[in-house]
Amino acid sequence: MAKEKLAEYSAKRRFDATPEPAPRAPGERRGPLVFVVQQHAARRMHYDLRLECDGVLKSWAVPKGPSLHPAEKRLAAQTEHHPFDYASFEGIIPAGQYGAGEMIVWDCGVYSPDEDEEYWFHDHAEAERRVAEALAKGKLGFFLRGEKIKGSFALVRMADRKNWLLIKHKDRFVAKSDPTALDRSVISGATLDEVKAVPLERLPMERLIPTGPSEELPSSLAPMHAELAESAFDRADWMWEPKLDGYRALAFVDEKGVTLKSRRGLHLGSFPRLEAELSRQA
Ligand code: MN
Repeated sequence: MAKEKLAEYSAKRRFDATPEPAPRAPGERRGPLVFVVQQHAARRMHYDLRLECDGVLKSWAVPKGPSLHPAEKRLAAQTEHHPFDYASFEGIIPAGQYGAGEMIVWDCGVYSPDEDEEYWFHDHAEAERRVAEALAKGKLGFFLRGEKIKGSFALVRMADRKNWLLIKHKDRFVAKSDPTALDRSVISGATLDEVKAVPLERLPMERLIPTGPSEELPSSLAPMHAELAESAFDRADWMWEPKLDGYRALAFVDEKGVTLKSRRGLHLGSFPRLEAELSRQA
């Protein structure tokens, strides 16, 4: 049961003193498994990599954060399992509490075990079974679909059994750039410093990733439009972006590739090379 697996998590925290979520088993889960990387300004700044498996988030503290280069093996110290709800947690853990300091959701998305480029994004139970088995053996190959980090990685347990190495596999997502230079939350857009000043609205975990039964891909969508207002305002459920002139395109992605459509549902046929390039990357 998830409760038992979270005994260590609970023992370290007082839920009347920290805004972190108390243990709760997730509802019925299907679709792909979730991963999250939280940036955490605790006594020492680090990145917490968490992988959904068996109703909890298996967790590792990565002091330097993930690297996209296979030559840069990152130390990943295994820590206690965290509740599923923790994946969308960002905010401030108060002074005096375990792990005191600011935390943001630095990256999140879905993942699958990766066994010689075979994946289980669409088979939740089998994906979990394979992840649990691989972790028990001390070597997991997995494929991340995040916003900042993508592609195939390995977690390899070292002889001391507590420390692991996080290693990027060679694939087309290898990069020399340092992903930790991107320092904003993928949920709120806030940096760790801004968390101190701006109250964050907590996103329910269920909205972090696709959930619910799968449906046919729609052929059109009605996106939000810009609105007129008397004056500028600041509300938590709004984000601001510079207005750029050009085409607004909706990308429809399926196994056949990427199709770009206007908001009226018309195929934007003038960008065949862009569609071909996006299809290659999808
Ligand atoms: Mn941490």
